[in-house]
Amino acid sequence: METCRLPPDGPYFKIILEQRAEHPLPIPSNAPSRERTRSDEAYVCQLKEESRMGMSVYSRNWNVDTIVRRKDRIDPKPAYQRGPVWNEPKKQLLIDSILRKYDIPKIYLRKLPPGGRFEHEIADGQQRLRAIWDFVAGNYRLGEASSDIPDFGDLTGKSYADLPTDGTDRIGLYELTIAEVMDATEVEIRDLFLRLQEGVSLNPAERRNAMTGNMRDFIADLGENHRVFALTSIPPRRFAWHDLAAHIACLELAGGPTDVKAANLKKMYESEREINADGPVANRIRRHLNYMARIFAEKPPEMDIKWGFVDLYLAVSKLDPEFVLTSRESDFLTFYVSFEKERRAVTDAADLLAEGKGPWERDLFTYIEAFVREGATKVNIEKRHEVYVKRILRDIADLTPKDQKRGFSRDQKIVIWRRDKETCQMCKTAVRFEEMHADHIVPHVKGGITTVDNAQTLCARCNAQKGGR
Ligand SMILES: [Zn+2]
Repeated sequence: METCRLPPDGPYFKIILEQRAEHPLPIPSNAPSRERTRSDEAYVCQLKEESRMGMSVYSRNWNVDTIVRRKDRIDPKPAYQRGPVWNEPKKQLLIDSILRKYDIPKIYLRKLPPGGRFEHEIADGQQRLRAIWDFVAGNYRLGEASSDIPDFGDLTGKSYADLPTDGTDRIGLYELTIAEVMDATEVEIRDLFLRLQEGVSLNPAERRNAMTGNMRDFIADLGENHRVFALTSIPPRRFAWHDLAAHIACLELAGGPTDVKAANLKKMYESEREINADGPVANRIRRHLNYMARIFAEKPPEMDIKWGFVDLYLAVSKLDPEFVLTSRESDFLTFYVSFEKERRAVTDAADLLAEGKGPWERDLFTYIEAFVREGATKVNIEKRHEVYVKRILRDIADLTPKDQKRGFSRDQKIVIWRRDKETCQMCKTAVRFEEMHADHIVPHVKGGITTVDNAQTLCARCNAQKGGR
């Protein structure tokens, strides 16, 4: 961020206008006439945005009269502002400070693009400006602190209208420092707000949330609305649930272990801008998260770490196409709890490699090593995934493999159709061979195998009805 006191029409802007003369921006022939006649100011804004000159801040003084006059052109409540509302004593104290000519901290206003309802929005200083506007509007009176104002004496209980002319002058002419933030992107302005308010910078998940596109919306929807996250013991502070959703979405899109560092997730928001939130990947993500929600229905305290959530999601996602997971949620919970019990009991991972330790201890060592440092790299996720799957298949030894062959052969269909006397087994009407549906009696997703014994003849209507249940 650059801070300067150059007025917006100073040499800085002249350079831009010169650039414009040299490299005029093409205006599309089908652009509405409003576009073609836009002001230089709008043109400069666009130019600066395109050349990525970044945010800048100009400081100036405005007196209270100006601030009151401009009230209707300042957006008091942009989306990222969620500070506590001042109570009356705090507001009274601010006006008291103005009457005493004390200094008030700088107010940050973001300059908005021309053409909208507002010229500025408040980036920082919302409560101070509200206190001023409310007092001048007559919404509250001065408090007990104002019993000995220099030159005016006791002003306790006085409203703005009750003040002597010298008093309203003192307020109206009081000068505040206004820092005008120019050309700030949504991310920059939110970052600035957080720095001023909390003394911290935006974290990667918060930055991603300020982006646009379908992926951003899909992740935000999961992070805000999917029940699985509330069943973890990971607090939703600072978009932590969005962050989890972004991690697992990145793995699902890659079809397995991949880098899920902040830069990779940001790239995913950009490259998957057009992702269909009702498409196959999104549906798989929701289905697996629903399964996780059933595993963690009792909110076990062990589900309090990002990599535990991510690793288990990946295991579920990779095992699902090959094994029948239906009704095995409690087995997965048992696995997870016992795995975490052992992992958490390790005080020095090197002990796991000591003389006399077995292959399982070596696996746990591998997992911990791939967990404590660089947990987001593809190679470490791969290592943890292998350990997880090995252990799951050991602990839940009776997982039923899904029959990979889902379709019945023509020969099988003929056998089934003849055996069933060319009749739909649900509604008992006759079915021609070309119209028969060979139906898995035990559904494929529940491990039903593709054999003649597990099949029956259905008509199209009954088949659709059964599928829809
Ligand atoms: Zn039928």
